[in-house]
Amino acid sequence: MEVYDTIIIGAGVAGACSAYFLRREGERVLVLERHQIASGGSGAAGAFVSPKIGKGSPLQSLTNEAFEFAKDFYLAYFGDYYHQTGVIRIPKDADDAEKFDDYQTSISNRYKIHSLSQLKEMNINTLFESFFFSDAGVCDAKPLCEALLDGVDFKSIEVKQISYCDGFWRAEGFYAKNIILATGYENTLADVSYMGVSGLWGTRGDFRSNLSLNVSLHQSMSISANINGVIKLGATHEKEIKKSTLCDDNKALLLQQKALALVDTSDMQLLKSYCGMRAGSRDYFPLVGKVINVAYMLENFPTLATGAKPPLHYRDGLYICNGFGGRGFVFGPLMGYQLARLIVHGEMVDSAINPDRLFYKWCRHKKER
Ligand SMILES: Cc1cc2nc3c(=O)[nH]c(=O)nc-3n(C[C@H](O)[C@H](O)[C@H](O)COP(=O)(O)OP(=O)(O)OC[C@H]3O[C@@H](n4cnc5c(N)ncnc54)[C@H](O)[C@@H]3O)c2cc1C
Repeated sequence: MEVYDTIIIGAGVAGACSAYFLRREGERVLVLERHQIASGGSGAAGAFVSPKIGKGSPLQSLTNEAFEFAKDFYLAYFGDYYHQTGVIRIPKDADDAEKFDDYQTSISNRYKIHSLSQLKEMNINTLFESFFFSDAGVCDAKPLCEALLDGVDFKSIEVKQISYCDGFWRAEGFYAKNIILATGYENTLADVSYMGVSGLWGTRGDFRSNLSLNVSLHQSMSISANINGVIKLGATHEKEIKKSTLCDDNKALLLQQKALALVDTSDMQLLKSYCGMRAGSRDYFPLVGKVINVAYMLENFPTLATGAKPPLHYRDGLYICNGFGGRGFVFGPLMGYQLARLIVHGEMVDSAINPDRLFYKWCRHKKER
């Protein structure tokens, strides 16, 4: 019987980062993935890595801490897959541009303001001054996940069921002390309904182009710099799609039309379109930590429904790494690091990412659902 320290289910950026940091802690790790590495949302991602702008919310602080961690991590260990092109954040319209003035006080990451003439020189059409984050950039999504998993045991198997007996988890004939659920928007292997994971579909198109564009852009869609003759266009706004489906080149061509408002897209030739679901949590923060034993809690504490907050009971050795929303490549490294520290050293994760935060409220509102 082959016994691992941890089995990770799902080989997107969440599973790959968790595996990387656990292995760095000396753990024996097995990754089980039903398709190939980065075949879910992670493979579709434009994989832009940039700070979040706004008026200074807790989510903004966490995102920007994760951004600094990710950027340093990629540069130090995975520089071949991180293109530090810089990212320009362009206001959507005049109202948005006014907000950008307020945002300046709450940006802790390094930035500059690019004037209209600077933007014009860079072949970018806009009526508004914009933020320029020079440390930001773009990852090669799939090769990066493959590199994170280099040397980790990997099997292409769909996990249909997991079970726990005598201190060990079993998944498709493999055994481990711990399991990490890193399955993206689909969560059928354990009851994690209190976390409210849901998916949002998106498309990315990779286009061959000779356009001189040395910087990446983000407005209501993302446009990468021209890297070796390829420009990536991406967005995740397709609410009508509820389940994984085939990619539609027309969606990528629509992104090309939309990009025309910002850059000259006339020579762009679609090479390939990618599509996928990105998984977000109910409150938009990541979900990283232990999984509560929901059945035990509901059975033993009926007063949960009326606001009681009894101590939480967890499922032994069961963890989750999920809910990265549209920022999988920003959150991945810091979340994988914190999860590995929790599993190996028992260090608590940041309370903002601990899924416990959602449980009591979910119990109170369970009947309404
Ligand atoms: C079009 C698009 C553009 C994006 N752009 C960006 C961006 O620019 N920057 C950024 O940071 N993020 C971006 N994202 C978001 C990013 O892709 C997600 O945050 C990221 O994919 C989350 O990774 P994950 O590992 O949680 O999930 P996923 O990548 O979806 O991985 C989950 C994996 O689990 C596997 N799996 C599920 N169930 C099972 C099972 N039972 N057995 C075995 N395997 C299973 C799936 O096959 C899948 O490979 C984008 C997403 C999309 C779709």
